[in-house]
Amino acid sequence: MGLFVYKFGGTSVGSVERIKAVAEKVKQAHDQGDQLVIVVSAMSGETNRLIALANEIQKYPNSREMDVLLSTGEQVTTSLLSMALHELGCPACSYTGGQVKILTDSSHTKARIINIDDKRMREDLTAGRVVVVAGFQGVDDKGNITTLGRGGSDTTAVALAAALKADECCIFTDVDGVYTTDPRVEPNARRLEKITFEEMLEMASLGSKVLQIRSVEFAGKYNVPLRVLSSFTEGKGTLITYEDDQMEQALISGIAFNRDEAKLTITGVPDLPGVAYKILGPIADANIEVDMIIQNIAGDETTDFTFTVHRNDYEKAKELLDSICAELGAKAVTGDVKIVKISIVGVGMRSHAGIASTMFKALADEGINIRMISTSEIKISVVVDEKYLELAVRALHSAFELDREPIES
Ligand code: ASP
Ligand code: MG
Repeated sequence: MGLFVYKFGGTSVGSVERIKAVAEKVKQAHDQGDQLVIVVSAMSGETNRLIALANEIQKYPNSREMDVLLSTGEQVTTSLLSMALHELGCPACSYTGGQVKILTDSSHTKARIINIDDKRMREDLTAGRVVVVAGFQGVDDKGNITTLGRGGSDTTAVALAAALKADECCIFTDVDGVYTTDPRVEPNARRLEKITFEEMLEMASLGSKVLQIRSVEFAGKYNVPLRVLSSFTEGKGTLITYEDDQMEQALISGIAFNRDEAKLTITGVPDLPGVAYKILGPIADANIEVDMIIQNIAGDETTDFTFTVHRNDYEKAKELLDSICAELGAKAVTGDVKIVKISIVGVGMRSHAGIASTMFKALADEGINIRMISTSEIKISVVVDEKYLELAVRALHSAFELDREPIES
């Protein structure tokens, strides 16, 4: 018995049948004596449908009006789920974010949560009622409806769990957990029992789309145990939590990859103070985000400077470099869009030497040339040619024995 926040995403509440199935699941837990707060998304496709309606009227609608519109999607689901629970004889009460109340700042369409009042929810829970809350929305200090950004229901769930000091926040979705890598690329990918907040954050920012990044940050900050599990099949899913002694003893927890990068090189740059700034300043001014950066040690008083950007920004970045090349006294600008970034992630890296060499050997054995390398405390990333993506991911997956069940410590 405990206090749990359950979050159901759009697919899990995508039809009346599915809403009824969610109600069954909730009722079961309620019958066992758990106190439950349920956060729901809009029915799948609904938010996009509302955005399309708005765009039929205006290309750039006012963001305050957009929030009034988009918040209705979640409101529909809360009432329907509440009714489905009543139908099963399970007491339940639905609330919008504003009714709870979830206080946010006034940045419409991307608001941040400032405070959550838990009084009404506590009263319901004490009275034995299931509380159903609309995800993705709140209210600012002037009473305007706000929304938290796409995928924001995850953040609502984690924030409510933090405010209520829930035992766990369970995110029910259409996958049954977090995997060692994308099973579409490596069929031997394995569901992880546990992963740390830090690792999950790296995986999420490297392209794993299981959870909204902000919800993982929030969970880590307030130490909310977070579980990702399937709403369609039974299973324990993946627990995202703090590092502890019980953690899997794996060196690497997962492999992430990103197909959206492109790299640019400016060769023969004079090795002088301020050069990096002269190259990257205009790129930053154009609002282009730079990911990896490498500068070679100067040989003959000149150096080569390479960095990666999102593929969509490649043309623009190339134009900017071309335009400053002569002024910098550099030789040439070259680039490549057919690259991918592959990263291995794991807190085990902190205490183990030789992870990088295992990685590089696995790639060398397959004849894969590494074009760039960057490291952080719990991650090593390499850039390789796009055509090697599948081969590289599979080679690394087996080099780090990710397909094997970990030995319990
Ligand atoms: N309905 C919103 C969206 O589609 C929020 C969510 O589902 O988390 O982005
Ligand atoms: Mg979602």
